[in-house]
Amino acid sequence: MIPNDSLDTHSAQVDHERPDKPEEACGVFGVYAPGEDVAKLTYFGLYALQHRGQESAGIATFDGDKVHLHKEMGLVSQVFNENILNELTGNLAVGHTRYSTTGSSRRVNAQPAVVSTRLGSLALAHNGNLVNTGELRAELTRRECDFLTTTDSEMIALAIASEVNSGKDWLEGALSAFTQCQGAYSLVIGTPKGMMGVRDPNGIRPLVIGILPTSPQRYVLASETCGLDIIGAEYLRDVEPGELVWITEEGMSSFHWSQKPARKLCVFEMIYFARPDSVMCGESLYSYRLEIGRILARESFIDADIVIGVPDSGIPAAIGFSQESGIPFAEGLIKNRYVGRTFIQPTQSMRESGIRMKLNPLKDVLEGKRVIIVDDSIVRGTTSRKIVKALRDAGAKEVHMRISSPPVTHPCFYGIDTDSQDQLIAATKSVEEIRQQIEVDTLAYLSWEGMLIATREDTNTFCSACFTGNYPIDIPEKVKRSKLILEKSVTV
Ligand code: SF4
Repeated sequence: MIPNDSLDTHSAQVDHERPDKPEEACGVFGVYAPGEDVAKLTYFGLYALQHRGQESAGIATFDGDKVHLHKEMGLVSQVFNENILNELTGNLAVGHTRYSTTGSSRRVNAQPAVVSTRLGSLALAHNGNLVNTGELRAELTRRECDFLTTTDSEMIALAIASEVNSGKDWLEGALSAFTQCQGAYSLVIGTPKGMMGVRDPNGIRPLVIGILPTSPQRYVLASETCGLDIIGAEYLRDVEPGELVWITEEGMSSFHWSQKPARKLCVFEMIYFARPDSVMCGESLYSYRLEIGRILARESFIDADIVIGVPDSGIPAAIGFSQESGIPFAEGLIKNRYVGRTFIQPTQSMRESGIRMKLNPLKDVLEGKRVIIVDDSIVRGTTSRKIVKALRDAGAKEVHMRISSPPVTHPCFYGIDTDSQDQLIAATKSVEEIRQQIEVDTLAYLSWEGMLIATREDTNTFCSACFTGNYPIDIPEKVKRSKLILEKSVTV
């Protein structure tokens, strides 16, 4: 859900203030439950999905033809209060929580995107990123659509509105609009008639269906199963790649519009983005992350005194590494959970030791020890270097880093905010060069095969393009040029 204007710039300078991790772009949620407090259910659903986006949050409810919308910059708990939620009445609700790159951080880009049609309004919440925004925008401009924002999400909403305004009903209009959209999109769409859940033909971003056990025909849609758990909804199934589910007072029906649906679920969801208590591919991501830790230990064992993880996302893989290697797991870094993402340290010395604002090493655990530290990924390497220095300052005798994913060599175009390719440390440096730069005694990454075998699914059903450069959905050259600037095939 990245605004298309953000695709046009890049910088070879490493921005040390940016988080040194790929950033998830959005969480989506929807509930169809006449007679229930749909706004509050959505509030809690978004609360569980907060890790997928912390920049803005919004809820739209449908009360017959009337739409109530509230969206603002900030965390879910900051954007809504009891009074606001009480105003959001209706039978169904659509919610969204958003992350975006700096520069596009504007209220107008917050979601759900609401547009008017001849059949009433529609409210759309999007997770993902279209790759054909140039083409789609030109077509919508030709059809004289009015744009309020620069987001691809609004373009999808306008594409549906345009089809509906040409005489189609909600369902026909939406199915026709999706044939014009290329890229990654998991959508929850509210209309006066009912709610839709949609996944692109490759199912790059997750979307699950749940049911509220209180009464029949009460459905929930959420980016992850943790969004169902929090409101007591039971997991029914995933929305399939290329599927639209249409939930109305008559129940739920399913439609497929793509000739060639082929799942390419983002494997980074499994490694890092999604919450460890969410279930994907039939198991919790905690279990998957334990397993990649075990495989990592088999692939790159080294003798040491303790195994620690970088909190929070590196912990399950560190435990798996410890189980497989027999080296005791310990907590060597304590996370301060209350540091804001945009915290700017006031003095130079604080900036230099900046990592301690977020992670504080435990001296008595680390002193004199040979330490294996497990992290889920290295993007630019700036944070890894600071962590290693903090461990050595706390007395670690040796520091061995193990990464529970392969080297990130390519940017993502499907809704994850990774840097442009020149800022990805593994795109320009060998493992040995990275080892030297982050000043560890040894460094090893999980193999690509190990990462996929651990899913216990057909390895062809995942996108792993940021590790290989094999993008499952074609990307127009202009969009490629914005980020893929080291590739020889891209003519700049
Ligand atoms: S390129 Fe990487 S982050 Fe993007 S969808 Fe594919 S696996 Fe996920």
